[in-house]
Amino acid sequence: MSERFKAMETKLVHAGEPEPRLAGAVVAPIFQTANYEFAGEASYHDIRYMRLNNSPNHIALGRKLAAVEGAEAAVVTGSGMAAISTALLTVLGGGDHLLVQDSLYGGTNSLLTVDFPALGIEHDFVDAAEPDSWRARLRPNTRAFYVETITNPTIRVGDLQAVVSFAREHGLTKLIDNTFASPVNLRPIEHGFDLSLHSCTKYLNGHSDIVAGAVVGSSELVGRVTNKLDHLGGCLDTHACFLLNRGMKTLALRVRRQNESALKLARFLEGHRRVERVNYPGLASSTSHERAARLLDGFGGMLSFELSGGVQAAERFQKRVRIAVVAASLGGPETLVTIPATTSHAGLSPAERERAGVPDSLVRISVGIEDADELIEDFRQAME
Ligand SMILES: *Cc1c(COP(=O)(O)O)cnc(C)c1O
Repeated sequence: MSERFKAMETKLVHAGEPEPRLAGAVVAPIFQTANYEFAGEASYHDIRYMRLNNSPNHIALGRKLAAVEGAEAAVVTGSGMAAISTALLTVLGGGDHLLVQDSLYGGTNSLLTVDFPALGIEHDFVDAAEPDSWRARLRPNTRAFYVETITNPTIRVGDLQAVVSFAREHGLTKLIDNTFASPVNLRPIEHGFDLSLHSCTKYLNGHSDIVAGAVVGSSELVGRVTNKLDHLGGCLDTHACFLLNRGMKTLALRVRRQNESALKLARFLEGHRRVERVNYPGLASSTSHERAARLLDGFGGMLSFELSGGVQAAERFQKRVRIAVVAASLGGPETLVTIPATTSHAGLSPAERERAGVPDSLVRISVGIEDADELIEDFRQAME
């Protein structure tokens, strides 16, 4: 089925849609029903019920996501954290250990450091850009290696190809949170990862109006994740499925635009006298530039920069922007500005933040789909 559609743009529109169309509807309707008539299903997981992730809306999304990531299968979840927790609990149990990249999305960090130790699942943090340091962290019970495509808010790309070969050599399951790149900029399964995870809340839905997640991989692994999801209960409501499917149709248009605008903004910022440093893998000055250029089809819509003048300068900038919205999260049509030191990283001391590469004057931008020159003008006036 998916072979019929070759390009990313075409797959996003057509892949996975019901064939033949339901009652001729060009857009598949929302199956607003929790349960279905019994049809002789032989196993619990085959019973048709909304929590079991098998409505026509769920199935269409699973097929579309698999097609765009070049994978066999995918399942959508009630949030990005539902995707991450369910995937990790599928491949790990009490007594297991995993290697994780040392700067993680806050929710994932809390899951690993607060919740998992109580279940007997231990971890070690590693620098994903330093392959030589990994072997020393291996234990006999190490089962998995978990990374993110692009780190937040430092916007770096680790040595993802080395992660795959190291994990292969040591029999580890390779998981990657691909939220920041989106399938437009990276398809991790094609590079040998076992599971690609998404917060679809971000680029995939792309309109800042639902919370959703996805797990992408082989039929065998995604089948096991789906069974775990059936038990843990983090299913996506079909109304949200409909919105996610609608959002995904424009994913490539949005992300390609965001790639272009972010690069323009990054170049503008790098040349501005009030800016001390810009973190964006599309800039030659980024320590990740070479790796990112080799791996990614685009450098993404996320960047961060340090203003001279400390947190006061960052706060002044944030107060003065007129087009960008001051808000957390990312991946929507509107450009967003946040200061990690006062939001996502407020729990750390200034010294810990400095060590994590998150100085107090750091401003993080999620570039939207507005006119790039108008955004540059807005940033320019906010910095004067
Ligand atoms: C937002 C985000 C998550 C969590 O997703 P939710 O949909 O909020 O549960 C996980 N990983 C990354 C990289 C994110 O940006």
